[in-house]
Parts: sequence; structure tokens; C-alpha cells
Amino acid sequence: MPQNADDANGLPYYKPVGRECEVFEHAYKNRLPLLLKGPTGSGKSRFVEYMSAKMKLPMITVSCHDETSAVDLLGRYLVKGSETTWQDGPMTRACRTGAVLYLDEIAEARPDTIVALHSLTDHRRILYLDRHDEEIAAPPTFMLIASFNPGYQKGWKELKASTRQRFVSIEFQYPSEAVESEIVRAESNLDLSQVKLLVQLAGRIRNLAELGLAETVSTRLLVSTAKLMADGLPARLACDVGIVQPLTDDAETGAAVRDVVALVF
Ligand code: ADP
Repeated sequence: MPQNADDANGLPYYKPVGRECEVFEHAYKNRLPLLLKGPTGSGKSRFVEYMSAKMKLPMITVSCHDETSAVDLLGRYLVKGSETTWQDGPMTRACRTGAVLYLDEIAEARPDTIVALHSLTDHRRILYLDRHDEEIAAPPTFMLIASFNPGYQKGWKELKASTRQRFVSIEFQYPSEAVESEIVRAESNLDLSQVKLLVQLAGRIRNLAELGLAETVSTRLLVSTAKLMADGLPARLACDVGIVQPLTDDAETGAAVRDVVALVF
């Protein structure tokens, strides 16, 4: 893998796409919660990992799904033999220790989760643990970050306007060709000429709105495909398993994407 300054510092590799690092630092300083909006695989999680490491803040990640409830995040009583003990959930742990709490795909979680966030996301910065009869004031280092995929959620799970207004929001989009090439190259070590072709391929697929894909090709898919190619898998096969198959199960759509691959490789 090409060496870069961040590797040398032991930080996760992250290539800034806009002014998101600056916004993070100001949000942190002002104790404001942050919402990262953008499609899957666009670097949101890597960004939080990078900034937490850079600012030497511990980070706790929760991947939200449709069963994620307030109890999962806050904590619960566990019965062990004749004893009942309280066990903190990840949100409580983050609050007690002053960590960065990253709620990935927050719109997936059950509505009571969002309610539990309210007192933490305003000036109070207090977590109310009703079940444990406790209030925790978040220390200054505590930061709440959530991610959300607006395209994917369309017509399905929206994030309520009143919830969105609690966060400073950064939009993540696929980067420019030059920046995306740099990321794919750094993550895979594939020859630059091949990386450029892959990024061009992504641009063509992203422009084909008529394919009707639920999600289009992400930087993550490009990185996986590039790793397979760097390891010696022929380009068309790597694109098939790394891009076409993950994008669609529909034979006709798959054939259309494969045609685009054949134009490039
Ligand atoms: P998300 O959280 O938006 O779904 P990730 O942060 O997991 O996406 O990114 C997926 C992959 O894409 C990462 O593992 C990394 O290889 C690559 N990636 C995307 N954007 C960047 C970036 N700006 N800098 C470094 N790597 C990136």
C-alpha cells in the first residue's frame, strides 16, 4: 500500500473530499452533534474513525438496524443467578467516558432511540436513564455523530425534520475523479492507469439513471474491485464480482452494467 503521512502517524487513511475536517473540529469545539448524510460507501465511517483518531478521542460505533431500541443503546438489567446487575449500553458508556458515539444509519433504528437522543443533542447534554434512576451529564469530550442515507431512505424511513434540526449536517457525495482515483490507489495499490479506468467506469455507471439501481457504484465497491485486480484477478471478472453482482440481481440490468464494463476494460 502506498505510504502516506497518516499511515506514518498511525492514523486510518482518509482523504478529505471537501472541508469536512474543519467542520468536524468546529462542531466538536462547540459541542454540537453532527449528521453525515450520503450514500453507502462514500467514506462516512472512515471519516469518523480518522477524525476520532486524529483528535485522540475514543470512538464507539453502533450499526443501527430496525430492531435497535433505546434499551439497546442505554442499557438494561441483567439477571445473574440471584443478582440483578445494571449493564450500560453503548450510548451510556460513551456518555460516561466522554467518547465519540457514532450511530451508523440512524434512520434504521426504532423511534424510541431518537427520543432518547433528544436531551443529549440540545444544550442540556444530559442522558436520562429512567430505568436506572440516573442522570449523566456528558463530559466535554463526548460527541454524538450519526449517519443517514437520504437516497436509500426515500419514501421509506425518513429522518424527521425535528430530529434533523438537532444536528449540524455534512453532505458526503462521491468525490471527483482525481480524488477518487487517489483513494482507490491508496487503498488497493493497483496501477494508476487501471485505477483511472475503474473510476471512469464508475462515472459512466453513475450517469446511467435509466438503470434504475437502488444504489449506484460506491467508492467502497471500487476499492474492493481494485484490490481483486491488484491481486491478479482479470479486470472484467473483478468488475463482475466487485461491481455488477453487488449492484443488481436483475439479469437485464446486470447485462446493461456489464456492457458498460466491456466498453472500459
Ligand atoms: P460509509 O460509512 O459511507 O458507508 P465507509 O467509510 O465505510 O463508507 O467507506 C467505504 C470504503 O471506501 C472505505 O473502507 C475506504 O476504503 C473507502 N473510502 C471512501 N471514501 C474515502 C475517503 N475519503 N478516504 C479514504 N477512503 C475512503
